[in-house]
Amino acid sequence: MTKPIYSLVIPIYNEEENITEMYRRLSHVMTQLDGETELILIDDGSRDRSLSMIRELHHCDRRVCYLSFARNFGHQIAVTAGLNFVQGQCVIVMDADLQDPPELILKLITKWQQGYQVVYAQRLSRKKESWLKRFTAYIFYRILQRLSKVDIPADTGDFCLMDRQVIDILNAMPERNRYIRGLRAWVGFSQTAVHFERDPRFAGKVKYSFGKSWALAIDGIISFSTVPLKLATYLGMLSAGVALLMMTLVLYWRLVDPVSPLIGFTLITIAMFFLGSVQLICIGILGEYISRIYEEVKGRPIYTLKETGGLVKVSEMSSN
Ligand code: UDP
Ligand code: MG
Repeated sequence: MTKPIYSLVIPIYNEEENITEMYRRLSHVMTQLDGETELILIDDGSRDRSLSMIRELHHCDRRVCYLSFARNFGHQIAVTAGLNFVQGQCVIVMDADLQDPPELILKLITKWQQGYQVVYAQRLSRKKESWLKRFTAYIFYRILQRLSKVDIPADTGDFCLMDRQVIDILNAMPERNRYIRGLRAWVGFSQTAVHFERDPRFAGKVKYSFGKSWALAIDGIISFSTVPLKLATYLGMLSAGVALLMMTLVLYWRLVDPVSPLIGFTLITIAMFFLGSVQLICIGILGEYISRIYEEVKGRPIYTLKETGGLVKVSEMSSN
């Protein structure tokens, strides 16, 4: 097979109900592309029939290659692994559950052909997702934009197209904590959006539990902002201000009404709890950063592979 021009990277975790339909829709799109295509499926330690279905696709269609992790490492790592193996000049990352419509790939490619190096798909709506998910996602992307110096576009997921130049830079980044939509924005180059309506899942349950989404959100903020670290300073200033105000009040009361019991236990208890919680929050934030530094220095591989099909590693980063 000659070197492909297009590489499609799809992370898969327990998606047995979606794989056949995803492949059907993708093959239809692949026939419309003007060059060789490779489809890289990453099995993120699935416990259902996903891996055997992927193997079967690999045997029937030479364009399908796969990686299989020795356990579940998470979506961002699965995408990272895929990027380590892509050979194409133009790489498209998308989910396996058909929430990202494969047909949009053609639009992304048109933008690439116009000269953009990153084309990200931006959601106009999230059909049938719970109001809680929509609301928290809305708030999160706005907070992230406020806190980060990198302009991470709101309402974009990992569905995007990236040029080879961008992929080479991403693969060379030694960072283990990978918030891909942030790293993609950080890289720079000419970037543009293509808008789309996010469909509901074709089948199966969402694999991002509330806990996983929360962890991803915290990762996003901590990897791209140091503002939380400065929070301690501001909170310290605030409580110093409050203390100063209280001292003035106490002094005033002493002078005006020297016999009244000025400060009761309630006030002292409230002040203690307030200061205690401020300090704990600040220590917690420090802990978030330190734990990530710890992860980075340990230098463990970010994933372990148990099986590959039709792939040779092109990037030297990670699992070695
Ligand atoms: N996924 C994965 N590993 C995980 C969780 C999810 O590879 O630990 C894959 C999943 O199979 C899907 C994509 O990541 O292809 C997005 O997951 P999901 O649809 O559950 O999340 P959401 O739509 O909420 O982003
Ligand atoms: Mg999904």
